[in-house]
Amino acid sequence: MAQTSFADTLRGVDPDYLATSTLQTLQVNLGNLCNLACRHCHQEASPQGDKIMGRSVMGEIAAFLGGMRGLTLDITGGAPEANPDFRYFVESTEGLAQKRILRSNLTVMDGNGMEWLPGFCREQGLAIVASLPCYLEENVDRQRGGGVHGRSIEVLRRLNELGYGSEIELNLVYNPGAAYLPANQGELERAYRDELQGRYGIVFTKLFTITNAPLGRFAARLREEGKYDSYMMRLIESFNPEAAGNIMCRSLISVDWQGYLYNCDFNQVTGLKIRGSDGSPMTISALASSMDEIRGILFAPHCYCCTAGEGSSCSGALAVGS
Ligand code: SF4
Ligand code: SF4
Repeated sequence: MAQTSFADTLRGVDPDYLATSTLQTLQVNLGNLCNLACRHCHQEASPQGDKIMGRSVMGEIAAFLGGMRGLTLDITGGAPEANPDFRYFVESTEGLAQKRILRSNLTVMDGNGMEWLPGFCREQGLAIVASLPCYLEENVDRQRGGGVHGRSIEVLRRLNELGYGSEIELNLVYNPGAAYLPANQGELERAYRDELQGRYGIVFTKLFTITNAPLGRFAARLREEGKYDSYMMRLIESFNPEAAGNIMCRSLISVDWQGYLYNCDFNQVTGLKIRGSDGSPMTISALASSMDEIRGILFAPHCYCCTAGEGSSCSGALAVGS
């Protein structure tokens, strides 16, 4: 069966969705170094990751933020904390964004000389978005590795002691363990709250449900299991026009470890760089001078993961009322 391109599907809902001139969030990927090597990772991050942002690109990002102000800085990876210059980057962007978010796998804050991280994040006022793909130990450990659930719970306890989840945002991320879409975000949030509070006394701000992108290690696993085509078909058939109006690329730009720009982290994985008017790939150092230009969004089949069911983004579901 011939597939309708994502761009054509989106055009059918509203042609204005194909381009944008809005920027609210600068998402910065500090590299693919990670202490874990999860089965669902679209980045294929691992302890062997060798794409690591250095201080010169970090300096360009700080200069851009300093000239813009009012943006949200969203720090991701790999495990961003594993970048040897993570502390430098956070300190050099202090006061330059209206909000700064750290995407953490939690376990990177546990042991190996990284125990200072929770206190540092609190001092710096970083909101934390922490991945915890399930509240059940066996499901987390199957997806992320043995012992990950227990270590994550210990770090969540420490973050709670510091006021995370009560005085400052601590959001959790759920993603499915296999080739299916997330359940309703509100219902899952209630289940997470009941289980984490009841079993471990842990509190958090919100739960974000995120659909697995058919990329990287997750795509490889789907192919191995012969499920890639059926998963793609599920994403396409679950297209939700309400989610389409809220896709994150309409207000976000993603920066890679070398400073190249993308419409999102998924496009970064597939190498779909944003290009300037002369056709060459744009970098963070050129972004300030082109802020008024309309940027076309580069769409690909993986985009259907953003609009399936309730929709999906780095802030969770996009059409929660549906
Ligand atoms: S999913 Fe996150 S924690 Fe897991 S390997 Fe990838 S970057 Fe690391
Ligand atoms: S994958 Fe990226 S470019 Fe595609 S719809 Fe989602 S956010 Fe936009």
